[in-house]
Amino acid sequence: MTLTEELIALESSLGAHNYKPLDVALVRGDGVYVYDVDGKRYLDCLSAYSAVNQGHCHPRILQAMIDQARKLTLTSRAFHNDQLGHFYQEIAELTGAHKVLPMNTGAEAVESAIKAVRKWGYEVKGVEKDRAEIIVCSNNFHGRTMGIVGFSTDPDARAGFGPFAPGFKIVPFGDAEAFERAITPNTVGFLVEPIQGEAGVIIPPAGYFTRVRELCTQHNVTLILDEIQTGLGRTGKLLAEQHEGIEADVTLLGKALSGGFYPVSAVLSNSEVLGVLQPGQHGSTFGGNPLACAVARMALKVLVDEGMIENAAALGPYFPDGLAGIKSNHVKSVRGRGLMLAIDLHPEAGGARQFCYALRDKGILAKDTHTNTIRIAPPLVITKQQIDDALEVFSSVLAA
Ligand SMILES: *Cc1c(COP(=O)(O)O)cnc(C)c1O
Repeated sequence: MTLTEELIALESSLGAHNYKPLDVALVRGDGVYVYDVDGKRYLDCLSAYSAVNQGHCHPRILQAMIDQARKLTLTSRAFHNDQLGHFYQEIAELTGAHKVLPMNTGAEAVESAIKAVRKWGYEVKGVEKDRAEIIVCSNNFHGRTMGIVGFSTDPDARAGFGPFAPGFKIVPFGDAEAFERAITPNTVGFLVEPIQGEAGVIIPPAGYFTRVRELCTQHNVTLILDEIQTGLGRTGKLLAEQHEGIEADVTLLGKALSGGFYPVSAVLSNSEVLGVLQPGQHGSTFGGNPLACAVARMALKVLVDEGMIENAAALGPYFPDGLAGIKSNHVKSVRGRGLMLAIDLHPEAGGARQFCYALRDKGILAKDTHTNTIRIAPPLVITKQQIDDALEVFSSVLAA
């Protein structure tokens, strides 16, 4: 057995089989590259689902983490610390948020937003007790907790896990009229991804979010944008909502909020929604801990200081244009915004997985989704030269 095979066998024998990873065992990361146990280098075209937008092991985030870890890591929210307030200040200044709730994983940010928005519905909007409704979209992905999988439309995410919490309505993504029809006086929120990531990088029609924003304002419904994957530069703007010229009432961030070092998420809102939470009504032992805050502060700082968002915007069109230019009978379409890209293959091509293995063999790691889609999301520090190198590999793999 090779070392890779040994490691895979060890994981397989003891771990729950809730993932089906590509057969590659990584030991090191540096910028856009990761290295396997044999020292083979790969261009990372997944970026841990956009959690490492800043590149692997970014030296300044690493230093901030080490410095803070030496001083103080966790106080719980029973006491104040010298990082949390500064984290609030910096993230609020950057995003325009008025209130911040720090959590850890993305799913926790989603759950927290659901709780806050329901409470807002009862206390501010005046919805009758236990009647609050939240509208979500089909093919959504918001995480894996019980509350969240209860309103998923993916059979794998739901089957066998019921019973689920009531209070959610599902409408098609990208259809503002369907959303309007689903609104009732009990609707307190609309939870939606600006671009559906796990569904396969699904971009809604132009004007959708403008109309959604109008409807939310008109019916006093909070617009909750899950920017856990689309946010923090991935689409070439700090937040994907900026492409639509709108502002959410509640914005959810996670993933790249720590540059991949540590689970850090946040609910951002106007003062009204998070303003309903009083002491004892919500919390998290690790949420807002000084280590997380120090890491997140630097993760945000390098994103801005080092021009990563501009880089994603500048190279955004270049990468998909190059992919679309590849002469291949297998490619049906290429789409994306910024550096959040996907290639759809014809069903006759035999599935995206085999192409991901062919890419792996040639030094690129990308992820198949929904059988016929290859998702591509490199760290935002990628250069034009590195994209050119990648295009050559994609070309040889897809043309074959
Ligand atoms: C990844 C993701 C989540 C869940 O984040 P976790 O940290 O895995 O809990 C929620 N929403 C979106 C859009 C995501 O991409």
